[in-house]
Amino acid sequence: MYDLLSKQFGRDVAFMDVNTVQPGVDFTRIIERHLRECQVLLAIIAAVAIGAFVEGLDAAPAGVRQTTSGLRMYVFNCGTLKDRSPQTYNLTRDQVESVDMADPCFLIVHPRGSLLWETGLNDAQYNTPGGFGPRHDIVEKSLKSQLAAVGYTADKITYLAMSHWHGDHAGNANDYAASTWIVQRAEQEAMFQAPAAQTPAGNSATFSALKSSKAIVVDGDHDVFGDGAVIVKPTPGHTPGHQSLFVKLPRTGPLVLSGDLYHFPAERTFGKMPSGEAERGQTAVSRQRLEEFIKMNKAQLWIQHDMIGYRKIKLAPQYYE
Ligand SMILES: [Zn+2]
Repeated sequence: MYDLLSKQFGRDVAFMDVNTVQPGVDFTRIIERHLRECQVLLAIIAAVAIGAFVEGLDAAPAGVRQTTSGLRMYVFNCGTLKDRSPQTYNLTRDQVESVDMADPCFLIVHPRGSLLWETGLNDAQYNTPGGFGPRHDIVEKSLKSQLAAVGYTADKITYLAMSHWHGDHAGNANDYAASTWIVQRAEQEAMFQAPAAQTPAGNSATFSALKSSKAIVVDGDHDVFGDGAVIVKPTPGHTPGHQSLFVKLPRTGPLVLSGDLYHFPAERTFGKMPSGEAERGQTAVSRQRLEEFIKMNKAQLWIQHDMIGYRKIKLAPQYYE
C-alpha cells in the first residue's frame, strides 16, 4: 500500500510510521505532526506493526522507556560461598571455572510495588573476620545497608520471595517478615510442617518469623504485579517448592533468575546435577520446562551462584531497566 501510494504521489507525501520513525526517538511527536499535516489517513494496525513498535521501544534510550514502564532491578552482593567442591555437583575441577560461588539478592521495583528476591547469607553470622562455617563463607555488606543505599527499608518492600529455604537464600528472611511472602505451597510445608531446626543446608531460626507473615501461597506460576512483567515460576527438585523468577525488563529484555536449579554453569553444559537434590527426577523435569520457557521467551538465564557471570553484573546502586 505504502509503495503504491509513494509511486502515485511521491515518497515525501506518503508517510508510514514503521519505516519512517527511527528507534529511540519520541515517536508520538512525529506521528502527531504527520497527523496534523495529512489530508488522508489510512490506519492499518497489524500484528507485524505491533511487533515493530515493541522493537522500537526496546532500542529506545532511558528517557523514552521510562514513560512506558518504571520497572527496574537492583542486584546486591549477599555473600560469597567459598571453595565449593565440583565433585558434589558431579563435575570435575576442569569443568568448573571458579570454585567460589556468588550469592546475589535482587530488588525488583515496579510501579505497583517492589519485590525482594532472595535474602542471602545471614548478615550477623557471616560478616565476621575470616568468614563463617566450615568453608569460611563471607558477607562483606549487610543486605539492609545495601537496600538503604538505594532508598529502601524493609517496611517499604511490598513482597518477599525466595527461590527456596536454604541458608544462603533465607539467611535474612526474618527482617522482611512484614512484607507479603510469595511461596509455593510445597516449600511452605517443608519449612514449617516438619522442619529440621538446623541442617547443613540452613537454619530455620533465620526464617521463623515468616510463619506469621501475610502470605500468597501458590501451586504454580504467580504473576506478581498482574501485568506479566514479574512472574514466579515453580521449579521443584532442589527443594520441594523451589521456584525461579521471570523478569521482563524494558531495556535489558526478558531474563530468568533460576535460584539453585543450577549452581555451576557446567551443570547446564554437561547435564549434571548435585547428588544431594531432594528430588532428582523433579529437577530434571523443572530444568527441561524452564529451558523451554527460556527459549520461547528469548530470555537470558542468570545462574545466581555463577561467579563468572556475577563478576560481569552491575551491582546496586546501579540498576537494570
Ligand atoms: Zn544456594
